[in-house]
Amino acid sequence: MRAEHKSFAKRCFSRQFTKDWIIANFARKKQRKMLSKIKSVGNDVWGEAIDFLLPPRCVVSGVPVERQGMMSPAIWGVMNFVSDPLCKRCGVPFDFDMQADICAVCLDHPPAFDQARSALRYDDGSRDVVLGFKHGDQLHAVKAFTPWLQKAGAELIERADIIAPVPLHYWRLVRRRYNQAALMAADIARGNDKECRSGLLTRTRPTPPQGHLKAGERAANVKKAFAMGPHDVKGRTILLIDDVLTSGSTVNECASVLKKAGAKRVDVLTLARVVKN
Ligand SMILES: [Zn+2]
Repeated sequence: MRAEHKSFAKRCFSRQFTKDWIIANFARKKQRKMLSKIKSVGNDVWGEAIDFLLPPRCVVSGVPVERQGMMSPAIWGVMNFVSDPLCKRCGVPFDFDMQADICAVCLDHPPAFDQARSALRYDDGSRDVVLGFKHGDQLHAVKAFTPWLQKAGAELIERADIIAPVPLHYWRLVRRRYNQAALMAADIARGNDKECRSGLLTRTRPTPPQGHLKAGERAANVKKAFAMGPHDVKGRTILLIDDVLTSGSTVNECASVLKKAGAKRVDVLTLARVVKN
């Protein structure tokens, strides 16, 4: 079997690709409950069959590992996790203990969100992992990411009424076939018995990729790019999930829309964040 056919078969038979994608993107509350029940009943048998047919491999390097969704020790070793001391508001790590709670950027330009936290530094160690998840169909990696997000955002998850992903524009979702942020949001919500709303916000227009834009250009790029979906957020605490926090423009714009709609508090949790030296 050619390599691409093997890869395609692996994606099709992956439990995460089928069940989590459907749960995250299409299932309504009752359907989610039913699918979760089916999943829990059939998981052991199905899981063993899958592991037999497709032995678990590291989601990045492909070397054999103990369980589906795990990473090899070599990949794990190059991850740089965000740790204290950090800005209490935006979560940027300080190089040393600055005896300050808030960074200079947050003091000068307070963000629209209340708090942001991230699991990883977005650097040479994590880039392939994040991009593989975002563009490479490595959806099963969400199982490796959830414990990291859980640890980085424990307080934010605990106080959230609704967990929601930063949305993709419809056409980008069609092209990519899944929203990586929605997969993480669904998995965190499921594990914490929280309400997950993948359609809480919508993208009103497609925005060009922000990769090479400067901070000011990023803010202009996402200005008025989001709108509320058909949900009431008055007095609710929202936790937004995204893959990478770069300048914060996207989550800031999302938070502005949610606050205007009456949200009491908007927190942000991302898998990785850019940390400028
Ligand atoms: Zn800050």
